[in-house]
Amino acid sequence: MHDNNSDRTEISGLGEFGLIDHLTQGIELKNPSSRYGVGDDAAVIDQAGLQTLVSVDLLVEGVHFDLTYTPLKHLGYKAAIVNFSDMAAMNARPTQIVVGIALSNRFSLEAVEAIYAGIRLACETYKVDLVGGDTTSSRAGLFISVTVIGEAKESDICYRKGASENDLLCVSGDLGAAYMGLLLLEREKAVFKANPDMQPDLDGFDYVLQRQLKPEARIDIVDALKNAGIKPTSMIDISDGLASEIKHLCKASKLGCTIYEDKLPIDVMTASVAEEFKMVPSVAALNGGEDYELLFTVKVTDYEKVNKIPGISIIGHFTANIGEEVMITADNQSFDIKAQGWDAIRNTFQKDS
Ligand code: ADP
Ligand code: MG
Repeated sequence: MHDNNSDRTEISGLGEFGLIDHLTQGIELKNPSSRYGVGDDAAVIDQAGLQTLVSVDLLVEGVHFDLTYTPLKHLGYKAAIVNFSDMAAMNARPTQIVVGIALSNRFSLEAVEAIYAGIRLACETYKVDLVGGDTTSSRAGLFISVTVIGEAKESDICYRKGASENDLLCVSGDLGAAYMGLLLLEREKAVFKANPDMQPDLDGFDYVLQRQLKPEARIDIVDALKNAGIKPTSMIDISDGLASEIKHLCKASKLGCTIYEDKLPIDVMTASVAEEFKMVPSVAALNGGEDYELLFTVKVTDYEKVNKIPGISIIGHFTANIGEEVMITADNQSFDIKAQGWDAIRNTFQKDS
């Protein structure tokens, strides 16, 4: 645990309402749509003619995060970001969140403050208002549920379905890094368990660790596409891994696809860590989760426009062959894309470690 006993304040001293006041003090609402925030029985939101989008993510200690290597501030930040990413995936903008939190008595006031510092930093950075929540106790472990509310013009919203044959498959940023960060953290945890005197050896791995511990939501890509005059024909965020998300898009649009291994965007550090773990980098990109990049399709006629946007890779295209999701490897072999999914590989790794 991160709190050591010397600077530990028991939450019981504050009480539930004292804690809520403490966590939400000084919040200034930034979005005109946020009519009323924390302090009544419900928040009031006025999206003024725009569509309202809602999504929720529930994070459970020991299932979705491991506090032995996840700093609480990062956890709070990530809990908000994964929801902002869902809004980006709809080509929408997050405007408000409500946060439900359940704490066991293992958690001090300082620990909850750290979680909220992360949540509030994410809100500042992405100009989202924290307008409410619920606070309760748990028998064991930490639960964080973040509900996000977003807005978009009806004509801007992108669904997973809607794409056509020949549409170009594009991804933002690079893939596989967050998974490599996780493998490093799990490896250091195993080393530490075996010998608590060992110091973690994570120097020089900043990029992949940051991708795991402090991901970002690609609202900037939503803006860049809008500025370029492009509306994706379908879109999803990459939380479970490229392979699994590609299959979601293909299924939703009733299409097949071809992607090219040598077009997959993979950072050099991701590739070198993958090799250290005796893993082919493209497998990390296909099956590693939690990158929170956007996977989307555009019409072929938008090729020039999308090609000009920095940080977007065109990795393949949709085909009419329903059920055929194929990757052409660097040496020109063709193989079926298998979605192991993020949880599957994570479980495999944990069993092995
Ligand atoms: P109720 O009894 O109606 O559920 P609460 O006492 O739980 O109300 O909450 C009081 C106010 O504080 C509400 O506006 C609620 O949205 C807000 N709130 C409660 N817990 C949190 C939290 N963890 N983060 C942010 N706001 C919270
Ligand atoms: Mg309540």
